[in-house]
Amino acid sequence: MEKYIVDIIYLIGSVSFILGLKMLSHPDTARRGNLYAAAGMILAILGTIFLEPGIGNLIWIFGGIVIGTVVGWIAAKRVKMTAMPQMVSLFNGMGGACAAVISIVEYTKHDFSHGGAALVAIIMAGLIIGTVSFTGSMIAFGKLNGNIGDKVFPGQKFINLVILLAAVGLATYLSMQPVADNMLLYVVLGIAVLYGVMFVMPIGGADMPVVISLLNSFTGVAAAFAGFVYNNQVMLTGGILVGSAGTILTILMCKAMNRSLFNVIAGAFGTAGGAVGGDKQQGTVKEISASDAAVLLAYSKKVFIVPGYGLAVAQAQHTCHELEKLLEEKGVEVKYAIHPVAGRMPGHMNVLLAEADVPYDKLLEMEDANGEMPNTDVSIIIGANDVVNPAARHDQSSPIYGMPILDVDKSANVIIMKRSMAAGYAGIDNELFYYPNNRMLFGDAKASLQKLVTEVKAL
Ligand code: NDP
Repeated sequence: MEKYIVDIIYLIGSVSFILGLKMLSHPDTARRGNLYAAAGMILAILGTIFLEPGIGNLIWIFGGIVIGTVVGWIAAKRVKMTAMPQMVSLFNGMGGACAAVISIVEYTKHDFSHGGAALVAIIMAGLIIGTVSFTGSMIAFGKLNGNIGDKVFPGQKFINLVILLAAVGLATYLSMQPVADNMLLYVVLGIAVLYGVMFVMPIGGADMPVVISLLNSFTGVAAAFAGFVYNNQVMLTGGILVGSAGTILTILMCKAMNRSLFNVIAGAFGTAGGAVGGDKQQGTVKEISASDAAVLLAYSKKVFIVPGYGLAVAQAQHTCHELEKLLEEKGVEVKYAIHPVAGRMPGHMNVLLAEADVPYDKLLEMEDANGEMPNTDVSIIIGANDVVNPAARHDQSSPIYGMPILDVDKSANVIIMKRSMAAGYAGIDNELFYYPNNRMLFGDAKASLQKLVTEVKAL
C-alpha cells in the first residue's frame, strides 16, 4: 500500500515540476511556477522520508534540512540583486556536490563482487559530472564576484583534454573491476575536481553566460544519474528536467553569442572580467547634461531604453520605469531593447524590469529591436556596455567579434549613462563612446535617472 502512495506522491511531484517549469517561461506566472515546483519537491522529500522502506537517521536528515533551510532562506533574503548571479552559481554548485556525495556513499557501501558494472558506471558518471559542476560553479562564483580572473596558459586545451580522458578512463576501469577500489574512487574524484577548475578558469570575456547555463545542465544530469542509482522516479524526472532545460538554455546562449559550444569550451576567449578599458583613444567623447538629455528625450517620437548590468548595480529599475511613463505621457513611444546576455545571468534584465512592473509587452528581443533601430530618435543606454559595442560587428581582433549586439548606433541619437569610461565585463574599450551621434551622461544610473525625471517633469 505504502509503495502505491509513494508512487502517487512521486507522480504529483513530477507533474508539479513540469507545470512549474512551464510557468517559469513567462514573468506573469514565473513566481507561481516556482512555488508549485517547490511544493512538489517538499511533497517528494516527505514521501521519501516517511514512506520509502529502510530510511533511518531521521535526526540527521531533519538536522540537515533545518540547517539547509535556514542558511538558504537567510542567503536568499539578504542577497543583493547584483549578487544574484553569484548566488545562483553557488546553489547550482551545491546540487552538483550532492550528486557527487551520493555517488561516493553508494560506491563505498555496495558489494560489487556479484556484478554491477552498469551501476558503477552510473555512479561514476554522477561523480564526475556532479564534481565538475561543483568546482566549475565555485570558479564561476569567484569570477562573477570579481575574485578570480581568467587564467590562460599554453597547451591548456590539450591538458584539459588529458585530464578529462584520465577521469573517464579510470572510471571505465573501475566499472569493469569485480571489486570496489575506494582509493581509485578518490583519485577519480580528485581528477574531476581539477577538471572543473581547469575547464572554467580560462573562459572569460563575454562567454561566461554559456558556461553558467552549461554547469546548470550538468547539475541536472548528475542528479538524474543519482535518481538512477536509487531507482527514484521523482529524482530522475527532476534531474532530467533541469538537465534538458539547462541544455536548451546553453544552446540558446551559444546562439545569442554566435559561438559554437566547442568554441566556447575550447576557445578561452576574452580577457579578465571587469578589467579596465583598452587604451586605444578613438576620438573625442561628447557629454550631455541631464537637462539637454531630458529635452532630447521628451521631444522625440520614439525612444529605446537599453538596460545593462549597471542598471542592476544602481538598482535604478523603478526610476527607469518612472521615466518611461513620464515620456509616454508626453506622447513618446518608449520600448526596451533586451540583449540575451545583458547583466550577469540569463534573463537578468527581464527579472529586474519585472520587479519594477514594466509591462512585458514593452520588452523587445534583440532581433526585433534591431529592426526598429534605424527609425528610433534616441537610444538611451543605462549601464550597458559590451552588448552595444559595435566592434563585435567589424573588429576581427576583438574578443567579442561575432557576438550579435544591439545596433543602437543606428538610431539617430545615443545617450550612454554610466559612471566613467571604464570597460564592461569583457574588459574591452567601446568605440561607441566616440561615435558622433553619441553623448555620455556620466554618473550613477539611479542618480542620473532621477535628474532626468525631474527635468522631464519640469518641461
Ligand atoms: P557590461 O558588463 O558590459 O557593462 C556594464 C557597465 O555598467 C559598465 O561598463 C559600468 O561602467 C556600468 N555601471 C556599473 N555600475 C553602474 C552604476 N551604478 N551606474 C551606471 N553605470 C554603471 O554589461 P552588459 O549588460 O552590457 O553586458 C553583460 C556582460 O556580462 C557581457 O559581456 C556578458 O557576456 C557578461 N556576462 C553575462 C552573463 C549573463 O548570463 N547575462 C553572465 C556572465 C557574464 P562604469 O563603471 O563606468 O559605470
